[in-house]
Amino acid sequence: MIDADTLAYEHDEEAAGFGRPPTPAGVRPAGHGALNRVAVALMAVALLSLAVQVFSGTLNGTWAGLLSGLGLLSFGAALYFWSGLRGTEAGIKHDGTQFDGLRTRGWAGWVAGLAMTALYVLLYFDPRLLGYVPAVWGAGGLVEEARITGGLVLTVQPLAHALGVETSQWFLYGVLYTLAILVFGVRMFMKYRHNRYQQIRTASVMFFQSVFAWYLPQLLVRFQQPYVEFNGVWPLKYDYLWPEKTHGQFLGAGLPGKLLLAFAVAGVVATPILTYFYGKRWYCSWVCGCGGLAETLGDPWRQLSSKSTRAWKIERWLIHGVLLLVVVTTAALWLDYRASGNLYGSWSGKLRTAYGLYVGAIFSGVVGVGFYPLLGSRVWCRFGCPQAAILGILQRVFSRFRITTNGGQCMSCGNCSTYCEMGIDVRAYAQRGENIVRASCVGCGVCAAVCPRGVLKLEAGPPGDRYDGAERPVAALVDSVKSPEIYGYRSWQGPAGDVAKDLRKT
Ligand code: SF4
Ligand code: SF4
Repeated sequence: MIDADTLAYEHDEEAAGFGRPPTPAGVRPAGHGALNRVAVALMAVALLSLAVQVFSGTLNGTWAGLLSGLGLLSFGAALYFWSGLRGTEAGIKHDGTQFDGLRTRGWAGWVAGLAMTALYVLLYFDPRLLGYVPAVWGAGGLVEEARITGGLVLTVQPLAHALGVETSQWFLYGVLYTLAILVFGVRMFMKYRHNRYQQIRTASVMFFQSVFAWYLPQLLVRFQQPYVEFNGVWPLKYDYLWPEKTHGQFLGAGLPGKLLLAFAVAGVVATPILTYFYGKRWYCSWVCGCGGLAETLGDPWRQLSSKSTRAWKIERWLIHGVLLLVVVTTAALWLDYRASGNLYGSWSGKLRTAYGLYVGAIFSGVVGVGFYPLLGSRVWCRFGCPQAAILGILQRVFSRFRITTNGGQCMSCGNCSTYCEMGIDVRAYAQRGENIVRASCVGCGVCAAVCPRGVLKLEAGPPGDRYDGAERPVAALVDSVKSPEIYGYRSWQGPAGDVAKDLRKT
């Protein structure tokens, strides 16, 4: 039933030009009201406090500094999202998204992308500029001790001391990462408050990040146990099953270490079982820290993922290439370990370092998060994460999870494709009434949430509509690397690729 106000609403785009449409009378736009302005003022005060602490040292390293800086900034941002959206009608609004430079690679988007990338570059390659000098080791032992010189790292020191752990750039990173998920989680709660699935999913990533990935690992550090993020699974956390960690740390740490190793192995064993029942989403959208950040901080940029078939092709080669690389690296390190380090000489160390640097740091961190405002929120999950590759193969081959489509209801608006962060052209499936069983789908449910016609549903059912080699999982695994057929790529394109070509034009 369309109400009278909506029927009376007129907007002549031809006359107004193709700019941001005006808000109809009587509708409260997001981001207005006195409380919203108070929130902006609080954030400004917090940024001022941080600048004073970093550049003059005043209050830096004290509780007053921490609370008036990062604490107030987080509170102000959460209040901003809550107050900005609370008076609006429930239901997803993407009003103005395509006219907002921050969200469409305008100059503000580039500034945000460069700032986020710069933070990652400093964290990994030059933490001195953040106020932390790492220890330097030479051939004869320790050359220079680690020390804090001030800057952003010092701002979180009171919290580190309260937890009984050392302050470093990685402690700062953990605090910022967790705060980002919690604060932008508030935004998700408000934006998707009409959608129970989104609320539960958001609560889940907030919990797993703050408890499993941040607080519990701090306890391990405090009690001098091997460091483990409890929401991490090999091969995403590649070193968990590398000999250095397994033998050097887990098995060398007595019973707690053995329990941690058992937990790491259990994660690998549980992966196919949980994926069979719930699809890839149990991990990528509910538990994983990378997914948690993408689903909260990254949400404003989800529409930037490329929907082209070329990007899809690159995705399949790249993500399976990284999976192959981590499997080969892990096997090579174990062979070398069994040969007491005599198999490849210094090459095993170089291999380990290279994977950690190029995949673990540059791909997953600098590009994976820094490029949110330029390439969308799931660059790493889509193109690089080896855990996502395994989950994707399992989901595609034998999971019960699928998105069902009621094609007769689809009006081809394209909302679903636009807001799919994994670059899936959901509309193409919906128009043909086909279930979506794509390997890359992380089950975020946003396509279903933004569909105005209720066409899409996240469901579980028998895995009968999968790749017809479902009863041959090993062969299916090989096929998934060498053939696009397993991902429905060829059949989706049609014999001459006409469907894809036409869709790209629209
Ligand atoms: S197809 Fe839907 S559920 Fe899957 S990743 Fe895209 S938006 Fe999320
Ligand atoms: S959002 Fe719904 S109606 Fe629009 S194209 Fe997608 S399935 Fe069709």
